[in-house]
Amino acid sequence: MYLGSLVELAPADELYENPLHPYTISLLSAIPIPDPVVERERETILLSGDLPSPANPPPACRFHTRCPYVQPTRCRDDVPPLRLVHGHHVACHWAEEIKAGTVRPHEVEPVFDPGIPEPVYEPPPV
Ligand code: SF4
Repeated sequence: MYLGSLVELAPADELYENPLHPYTISLLSAIPIPDPVVERERETILLSGDLPSPANPPPACRFHTRCPYVQPTRCRDDVPPLRLVHGHHVACHWAEEIKAGTVRPHEVEPVFDPGIPEPVYEPPPV
């Protein structure tokens, strides 16, 4: 679930082994593995930006403001339906491409809520 929407549904073992939705991929990549060799080799996908308000979620794909796989088309324009992909029900336009590795994670510019002023850095008193 992300902001009240179901983003991926699959049997637990399958979900842990082969996550398809970028939010699931990010969550599972943050879980430490108690094997230093495996842990050193694997990629952790960090989400940027703040969690938007569930009362006023982003349009189209609700995850697009923080998604490390966001694409310039469709993600910001169309709501991704929950559809069957490789045995998972997943709500992502690019699930097949992410699974195939043709869409890769990238840096996402944090999106600030225009109603909330950006934080101002104030140096500590000397
Ligand atoms: S539809 Fe786009 S923004 Fe939404 S999860 Fe998929 S890649 Fe990310």
